[in-house]
Amino acid sequence: MKFGGTSMAGTERIRRVANIVRKQAAGGHEVAVVVSAMAGETDRLVNFCREANPLYDPAEYDVVVASGEQVTSGLLALTLQALGCKARSWLGWQLPIHTIEAHAKARIEDIDSEALLASMAAGEIAVIPGFQGLGHDNRVTTLGRGGSDTSAVAVAAAIGADRCDIYTDVDGVYTTDPRIVAKARKLKAVTYEEMLELASVGAKVLQTRSVGLAMKEGVRVQVLSSFIGDDAVPADEIPGTMIVSESEMEEILERGEMERQHVTGIAHDKNEAKVILTRVPDRPGAVAHIFEPLAAASINVDMIIQNVGRDKGETDVTFTVPMADLARAQALLEDRREEIGFNRIITDSKIAKISVVGVGMKSHAGVAATMFKALAERGINIQAISTSEIKVSVMIDEDETELAVRVLHTAYGLDASDEAA
Ligand code: ADP
Ligand code: ASP
Ligand code: MG
Repeated sequence: MKFGGTSMAGTERIRRVANIVRKQAAGGHEVAVVVSAMAGETDRLVNFCREANPLYDPAEYDVVVASGEQVTSGLLALTLQALGCKARSWLGWQLPIHTIEAHAKARIEDIDSEALLASMAAGEIAVIPGFQGLGHDNRVTTLGRGGSDTSAVAVAAAIGADRCDIYTDVDGVYTTDPRIVAKARKLKAVTYEEMLELASVGAKVLQTRSVGLAMKEGVRVQVLSSFIGDDAVPADEIPGTMIVSESEMEEILERGEMERQHVTGIAHDKNEAKVILTRVPDRPGAVAHIFEPLAAASINVDMIIQNVGRDKGETDVTFTVPMADLARAQALLEDRREEIGFNRIITDSKIAKISVVGVGMKSHAGVAATMFKALAERGINIQAISTSEIKVSVMIDEDETELAVRVLHTAYGLDASDEAA
């Protein structure tokens, strides 16, 4: 069972979480719980680091930001004990959860589960802080923002859990962010492949890496709400959304429990910025000169367009990078101005990426055309396009994000009222 930041925000909410956990344990399950820091706490801690030293050492940053989860894991264990349950916390270094030592963006390598399993078998509820681990350097590491989802899936894999229930502030995975589109529909199930793609293009309900890990390890993941009353449908009856394999999805479709749509979900991402390099030489190797230094600095480039060549063998190259890496990318490119041979760098962080995702696209033509037409009818200008087998993304003006998501949700027949009709 994993509980996110909103679910853990304050002693009152932790008491509600403890009750959900207690019930699950009382139902005869051995339970391990992974918790996030209280909502807003990690942001607060990150700010302290920036204030202390803008060029902070990632290893010390990890010491600071990992503390939010230490607090909530202890508080949940205390609250469970107050309810008469046997419970104890296991910090990342105590298990330990071994990670590579890439501080602030560590990856879990393996988890020693022996002591954990023994304690669970003895009837103790294990409470584990998410987001944190132990590096080869014997220091605390953290997994990157939203990383508690990945901690939960990794723990589930390590102990061979029957299921990994991700409790959050919505009751499942929807066709799009239900906070933006009131008519978003809850999905009974979504395939690993689609969830991976949706998460990677901005559906933050699950961290992308957690989905990749679940897919690789075959962990059964359910997304469900922690904001529930005593009469709520028990988690074992799957009130939320299951992340399933393609073959399980086929069975669900055959049973008529869901209908396959060409588009399963729509996501948006406001965390990328656009970079334009003007008057780049239009010759072999020019683009490599731009992207090699960015790759070497681990800056992820997403959408790329090379414009039609201008006169004099020159062209403009446009691409996107994560907002957090924009300043670094700009500095790297400036340093190589001579070598690359561009004229100007123009940047714009007021852009958004809107993506439509669905395995149905593999066998159905016209998904992209529907997208372009729907956006055009609302006068929304498309600045760049990228596609994969099960996804089409467009870059638009950030101010038009919500409108674009709503328009597309309707255009693909995903609105809740359409289903009822
Ligand atoms: P937690 O703190 O529990 O980890 P997050 O805030 O990380 O929760 O993720 C839950 C949020 O994800 C929801 O409140 C919702 O606004 C957002 N979200 C984005 N896309 C979707 C989607 N397709 N389905 C459900 N929630 C989504
Ligand atoms: N507390 C961490 C964050 O806010 C990890 C998580 O909540 O998943 O990013
Ligand atoms: Mg989250």
